[in-house]
Amino acid sequence: MKTNQLYHDLELPSHLCRSRLFCIEPVGIGTQLTESLISLTVRLAEAHCLPPGMLMEKEVAPIIARTHGGNLHKIYSHTAALNSTGVMALNLASALEKLSGQKNLHLLTLAPWSELMPSRKLLRRDRAWCPVCYENWYTTKNVIYEPLLWSLEVVKACPSHRCLLLESCPYCHQKNLPLAWNSRPGYCSKCQEWLGSLPSNLAENLKNFSEDESKALIWIADSVGDLLASTPYLTSPVTKDSFAQAFRAHINLVSNGNIAEFARQLQLPKNTVWLWCNGRNLPQLDTWVHICYRLNSSLIDFLTQRPEQDICLTPVKVLGPLHSKPRAEPRVIDTDHLEQQLEIILLNHECPPPPMEEVARRLEIHRETIFRLFPEMCRAISAKYDQFQKIRHHREIEQSRKEINQAVLKLYSEGLYPSEGQVAQLMSKPGYLRYKQVRAAIKEAKLEFNTQGRNLPNS
Ligand SMILES: [Zn+2]
Ligand SMILES: [Zn+2]
Repeated sequence: MKTNQLYHDLELPSHLCRSRLFCIEPVGIGTQLTESLISLTVRLAEAHCLPPGMLMEKEVAPIIARTHGGNLHKIYSHTAALNSTGVMALNLASALEKLSGQKNLHLLTLAPWSELMPSRKLLRRDRAWCPVCYENWYTTKNVIYEPLLWSLEVVKACPSHRCLLLESCPYCHQKNLPLAWNSRPGYCSKCQEWLGSLPSNLAENLKNFSEDESKALIWIADSVGDLLASTPYLTSPVTKDSFAQAFRAHINLVSNGNIAEFARQLQLPKNTVWLWCNGRNLPQLDTWVHICYRLNSSLIDFLTQRPEQDICLTPVKVLGPLHSKPRAEPRVIDTDHLEQQLEIILLNHECPPPPMEEVARRLEIHRETIFRLFPEMCRAISAKYDQFQKIRHHREIEQSRKEINQAVLKLYSEGLYPSEGQVAQLMSKPGYLRYKQVRAAIKEAKLEFNTQGRNLPNS
């Protein structure tokens, strides 16, 4: 037998191929509540008894490191982008596909809609959730997860329970990042309390809205949900051109193709509407949703150019005019006063010293304007802040090392092996395990324990 024939015969059958991580099935694909990619990441970490931060560091980072300069810092500063339309979402989807063997994970992001959805104001910076959904899934023993719908900025309510999505934890009152080191489905990543509650506990959180406003919020959630539900069934990519065509079809019905008249009726800037009609530009998702609401046409119907024959515009008062903020008058800045203020900030002993963003916020002047007028003072303020951060970072590293020492001893005393995951759970800042010198403390503590001749539980 020839050698290559022999190798051919020895090839593993495909059904025996193993994936490095569990092949977890995403929830709700093809429905309004299709799961988000961040949610799948969190569930995958939980299935492996790991904090998601560690899953990202140890498994995902080596795969996507090349595109992100070898580290995940860019991702940590904007985790919402992992559900979005761009390269960060696609990279995570393909990394998880490689690791878990699951297919088509891009359907858990907005990537299939990248042609239609400009990223500005598309996704919330913080996590949002429906407490009734969580509680229902818990009591009916269903998978606890986070639908992609909840991460969209324009969606304020749950289409199933007609209540507002919550954005702050009712226990610690803090906001959660979309993906934190310690995220768990259904739990606050800051205080680890359960976030589900029954409708009776919600105290009808839509009560601050009129009936019309509540109806509009539910309509938006429903309509955007239907759009997400259609993602797996898209036969061809929806392009800017198809959007423009749909837009023109609606303008024909509302104002006989008169763009200026259409813009006037919908209280939109005429030039902007003209750019949308010509496929030169796209409205943000919230603007598109508002337009559809006024046209009484769901997002899907809008795209498939099924305008009602007799369009009767819904009154604008429910959602408010789209561009209600008048352009601010140019402001005259008192430079002497500003210089004095900067001097005070620079010389006082505030702890921690404020960064320039905070200074700009306090003085209510844009940071770039301050920098243009007083670059040297800005640099000095930033340097003071950086110096403080360095010292604080050093202290936190030392504190983490101390905590690791105590954690290792505690775990051993309880007969548990001190794996990184176990140690992380006992640390006040588990994220610091991403620093080499902090991780090294685990090894050192184990060695120390070893030299004392004590018995080690097995790993
Ligand atoms: Zn709900
Ligand atoms: Zn909390």
